[in-house]
Formats: sequence, structure tokens, C-alpha cells
Amino acid sequence: MRRLLSLILIFFPAIQGVAQSQSGSAIPPYKNPSVPVEQRVQDLLARMTLQEKVAMLSGADWMQSVPNKRLGIPSIKMSDGPLGIRSWAGPSSETRAEVAEKKVTTTAFPAGVAMAATWDADLVRSQGQAIGQELKALGRDMILGPTVNINRTPLWGRNFEGYGEDPYLTSRLAVAYIEGVQGEGVIATVKHFAANNQEFERHRINAVVDERALNEIYFPAFKAAVQEAGVWSVMSAYNKLNGVYCAENPFLLKDMLQKQWGFKGFVVSDWGSTYSTVGTVNAGMDLEMPGGEPMRTWLKKPESVKAGNGGGWLVPEKVLPEMSPGKISTATIDDNVGRILRVIFISGQFDKPHTATGVIDTPEQRALARKAATETVVLLKNEGDLLPLDATKIHSLVVIGPNAAVARTGGGGSSLVVPKYSISPLKGIQDRAGQHLQVSYAQGAEMEAEGAGKDTPSARKHLRDEAVSAAAKADAAIIVVGRSPTLESEDFDIKSLDLPAGQDDLIEAVARVNKHTVVVINAGGPVIMSKWIAQVPAIVDMWYGGQEGGNAIADVLFGDADPSGKLPVSFVKQWKDSPAYGHYPGENLQVEYAEGIYVGYRYFDKQKIEPLFPFGYGLSYTKFDYSDLQVSPSEASPGQPVVVTLQVRNSGSRSGAEVVELYLHDGHATVDRPVQELKGFQRVDLSPGESKAVHFTLDPSATAFYSTAKKDWVTEPGQFDVLVGSSSRDIRVKGSFTVESAR
Ligand code: BGC
Repeated sequence: MRRLLSLILIFFPAIQGVAQSQSGSAIPPYKNPSVPVEQRVQDLLARMTLQEKVAMLSGADWMQSVPNKRLGIPSIKMSDGPLGIRSWAGPSSETRAEVAEKKVTTTAFPAGVAMAATWDADLVRSQGQAIGQELKALGRDMILGPTVNINRTPLWGRNFEGYGEDPYLTSRLAVAYIEGVQGEGVIATVKHFAANNQEFERHRINAVVDERALNEIYFPAFKAAVQEAGVWSVMSAYNKLNGVYCAENPFLLKDMLQKQWGFKGFVVSDWGSTYSTVGTVNAGMDLEMPGGEPMRTWLKKPESVKAGNGGGWLVPEKVLPEMSPGKISTATIDDNVGRILRVIFISGQFDKPHTATGVIDTPEQRALARKAATETVVLLKNEGDLLPLDATKIHSLVVIGPNAAVARTGGGGSSLVVPKYSISPLKGIQDRAGQHLQVSYAQGAEMEAEGAGKDTPSARKHLRDEAVSAAAKADAAIIVVGRSPTLESEDFDIKSLDLPAGQDDLIEAVARVNKHTVVVINAGGPVIMSKWIAQVPAIVDMWYGGQEGGNAIADVLFGDADPSGKLPVSFVKQWKDSPAYGHYPGENLQVEYAEGIYVGYRYFDKQKIEPLFPFGYGLSYTKFDYSDLQVSPSEASPGQPVVVTLQVRNSGSRSGAEVVELYLHDGHATVDRPVQELKGFQRVDLSPGESKAVHFTLDPSATAFYSTAKKDWVTEPGQFDVLVGSSSRDIRVKGSFTVESAR
């Protein structure tokens, strides 16, 4: 009889409410891994006092949630991201490499925008996995990434963190990143929800965005993160959306996240972004960060006050007095705390806490960082096939520029990772060049805000003259220009799209004396090139390439790797051409997203503006031919998937990878729609002469737009054109299909 009872207890612990441990003592259901998660959550909630629950609504310190020793609830230990793992010691200003008390050195992957330039979801998934593994090895539980805010204006200081201007590309990569991280049992945090597209007045600005633009441009990556990747955490944004702070915004947190998308995880506030108690708790903001003494000290700092940071609203002293009918209910507290508990259970952290025992910076992670950095490189111009450099034909090379001898691995702020080592472009080129090629170096220009006070007109001229005379003697010149994490960062926007500190003059002067000049852009987004683009035969974009950026650019310059990156953002000829021009950065603390859904290429296509380099653009050392486009069925019933097939052939003489891009054009809609929208992409590796069939399956969401009348996604019956090509402005094959009317 006793045996039978213990068998029942093992197989039906939930029915009994307790299970037997091997030693015979009772295990409460919430501690039993074989009990379904929802039951564990309810069981644990039932054992907690109101005080214990409320204590979990705000953080313990800068990067940890409040644990509960009595019940064995672990603290969630967070770390900044998303480009790798950052120190968790304090605000980003205090965790700068130079001043950090607690230095954490981890793998620095290329910036988000660079990863987006690979159009390689598998690669991003591997990056997420590596970050998850490193995080566990450090004994942490949660990464504050990915950043999926859309690049609305090229001046946003944090564009380098996100995945560019297109919601589809951003969604695909966000899903891959989250799957990689969470597959390791680490919590991913998709951020910043929503419409955090500028740093200017980020704590006070009210982003006024229409419903269609939210649904078609700014929400899709968050929705995909929730519905496809099952993300466990969402970070609310600092700004207001349509008049309401994002951290207390019921439309965002209740209606969209919870009701429409079915989000089951928890919302964490951005650091210091809360301004009320009742509204914030009731809106579904589950965990306020930071908390404890670090929060109190930080909020008192003049810079936090000046910036407009808010916080300390969800501490027990503030929440408990509001627990009354019509204010905050216990059911709401149970829901909010239950979300945090659910994630602690689902992620496995309750049953198997992460302990800092593992290894980081493994050979595999280094190799991944290098592969990633290599795939990010975009070849923008290559007149007369100057690239790849032939190390057997050129004998001397000069490497010039304020970004040549420094490894600028990422942009500034909370995402900046301190790697164990990093390779500058100069070092990468020197290591690759070998003995027969002489490599010299000239700084050429001082990066703005560096070497303070030294950047006088005569000092500038001196540095430039040095570079010009070195370039005049060399067979080829490589000028590495761009920005730095001090100029391109969280907390402020980019001052100008022009290259800073005399770099334009430097390029012009060098190109005048050396016909074999290659410009390498090392920045988080577009720069204006009008002053020198016609004089320079070759231009390559290496973005911020992480710790292996220098090796990667050498791989591409010398042809060890084919450049296969494509632009995830359009490059404008001048700032005035940008969609947000005239509606940025706003006035009187309000920014109107007056361009609506016409962001990035959607705007250039509609306004017939020629960008400098279009979305999806990138050259290769080889050539790809597109043929045999087939669309099936040609007449689809509503809701039926459509399959697009084509052949892509490498018709050149080198191996390479092509990113094949699929756009849809809806010419019959009753509402205004973009000329074309990205709905599929695939990277294809091809040896010389090789052909491969590429397949895309367009699900019904591909044809839909967001109808503000119906408050839903709608596909209108009629013809859709399928445009497949090498960039948004280089369509190689076309077809079409018709969606039939519903019977
Ligand atoms: C940033 C977040 C970051 C947080 C914690 C904030 O300033 O906006 O992206 O995760 O700080 O460092």
C-alpha cells in the first residue's frame, strides 16, 4: 500500500500537492520540476505574503532582482548587452573600461547593425547562443538585448545597436538572437518597447506615432520576439508614446503585449524610467530597475536629475499603501509577480541556478566573432576591380586614418563590451600582408574628442601632410575613417552625418596623390561621402566589427573572403534626404513621426529620391545571375502560402555568398502602400559556376497591411508582384500571383 502511495505521489505530485523527496521529506509542488510551470507559479504565489510579493516588483540593486531566501526564489542576475556581455557594476558611465571597478572581459561581437548587414539569421542565432553560454559561465541569468528599435533617422546615437531600417529583417534577426540566447536557458530581453528612436531628450520626449506606423514599422520585431521566439522579457522604453510614458502605458503593455500578442513573460523597465506607482503597476510593468541603494544614490545625482530619470516608484513603501480597491488589487500583484516567477521556472533557473564556473572567450567564440565580422563587411564601390588587393603585385601599402590603429569595436554606452583583445584594422592588415608587402602607417587626422586640444588647424595640416607624403610613395592607400564610441553612443544623438575632424579633407588629399585609394568606413551607420566619392575608386564598410574587426577587414581587402554584406539601412546623399528630416528631433518635447510608414527605402521609393546606396545594396568580388523565377500557385486562395523559386548562379571566377532579397509590390490596395516591401531573404554560398535553387514561402502575413479601419491586418484580393534581386534597387527577376477573393 505504501509503495502504491509513493508511486502515485511520483506520477501525480500536483494532485497531492506535495511529492516525496528521496529522503522522505515533502517537496512542495513549486519546488518539483516535474509539476507543470503554471501550477508551480500558483503554488508559490499562494505561499508568499503580500510583502514578499511586492518586494519583487523592484530591483535589489543595479542589475539584480530581489531574491526570497525563505522560499528559495533566486535573484535574476542581469547583464547588459546586446553585442556581447557588459559589466554589471553600475551605470554605463561607470562601467567604461577605464573606470570600471569590476572589469568583465567577454567576446565583443560586431554591432547589431553590422550583424544585420550579414542577413544571416543562423549566424545571429549562433551569436545569441555564444552570449548565452558566456553569460552562464559568468553566473548571470539575463541579457539586456536584443535592441530592435528601427533606424528612423541616421542621426540616432544608438542605430549601431539595432538591426537597421526594415521591420522584416529586424524581426528575423531578433527571433534568431532570442532563440540562441534562450536555448541556453538564459533570459533574453527585447528592447526598448516602443518608439525609442532617438536619444535627444529620451527621458522626456513624447513620440507621436500613428497606429499604422506602429503596427507596420515599430512593432513587428517585438511581436515576432513574443510570438515566434517566445521571448521571456521585454524592456519598456524611456520615452512617452502618444502622451503616455512607455513604462506605464496600458496600450503597449496590456493591450498589445499581453492581450493581442499573448506575452507570458515579464516587462522590465529601462533603467530609471518610471514615474508613478499605481499607473505603472496596473499597466503591467512587472519589474522596476534598478533598485535598492544603487538606485537611490544614482537618482540623486545631478546628471540623473538633469536628464529626467525617474525611479523608486515600485518599492514596497510606495506600493503597499496603494493596495486598496480601485487602486492596486492583489490579483494585479499576483499577475505581475507571477510573470517573473514563471520566467524563473521556465528558464530552468529555479531548479538549476547558474554558477560562475564556466569558460568564456573560447576558441570557438573567437572563431565565431571573426566569421561574423567577416560577413558584416559591405563592399560599396570597386571601380576597376581595385579590390581585392593582390599581395603579389603591390609592394607597399600605407594604412591611414584616425580609426586605423585603434580597434573601435562598438558604439558607446551600455552596449560597449570590453574584450580580452581586439584587432585594429592596421594590425589585421599588417598580420595578413606577409613579408613581401611593406605596410606603413600614418594617423592622418585626430579623431574628434581625442587628444584634447591638439586638433588645431596647423596640427591637422601636419598630420594630413604626413599621410599624403606616405600615400604618394605607396602602391596603395587604405584610409580607415569613421566615428568613435565617444561620438556615436547611447545618451546623445550624432551631431552630423559628415565625417568628423577633417577626415573628408584627408580622404580628398590622399586620393589626389594615390589612385589606388581604398576608404574603409568604421562607424555605426551612414556617413556623407559627397566631397570625395567620385575621386575614390574603392569604398568598404566594416561598421563596428567587434574584437575581430581588424582581421575581418584584412580578410576582405586581400580577398581571403568575398565581401557578402548588404546594407540594412539606406545611405543618404545628404541629411536633408532623410525621411525624418523636418520631423526630428521634435519641439517642446514632442516628436511627430510625420513620415508614418515611410521609413528608410519605403520613403526613398515613394518620393523617388535616389539614395547614395540603397537598402540591401552590397557588391561582391564575383557575379551572380538570377533566373527561372516561378511562383506557385499563381492564384492563391485567401490564407494559402505562396512558394517562390528561382535559380541563382555564381557566374564569376571566385567563391562568394549572395544575399537574395524578395520584395512584394501591391498595386491594387485601397490604401496607400509602399512601392515594395522586403518579405524574404536568403544567403546562398556558391562556388564559381555553381547554381542553386532558392525557395521562399510567403505566408499570408506577407501580403497584409494594417488596416486602421478594421484594427487588423488585411490582405486585399488582387495581384501581388514578386520582385527578387540583389538589392532593393537591383531587381533581377519578377513574377506575380493573385490572391483570390474569399468565397
Ligand atoms: C539603456 C538600456 C540598458 C540599461 C541598463 C539604459 O540606459 O537604455 O538599454 O540595458 O540602461 O544598463
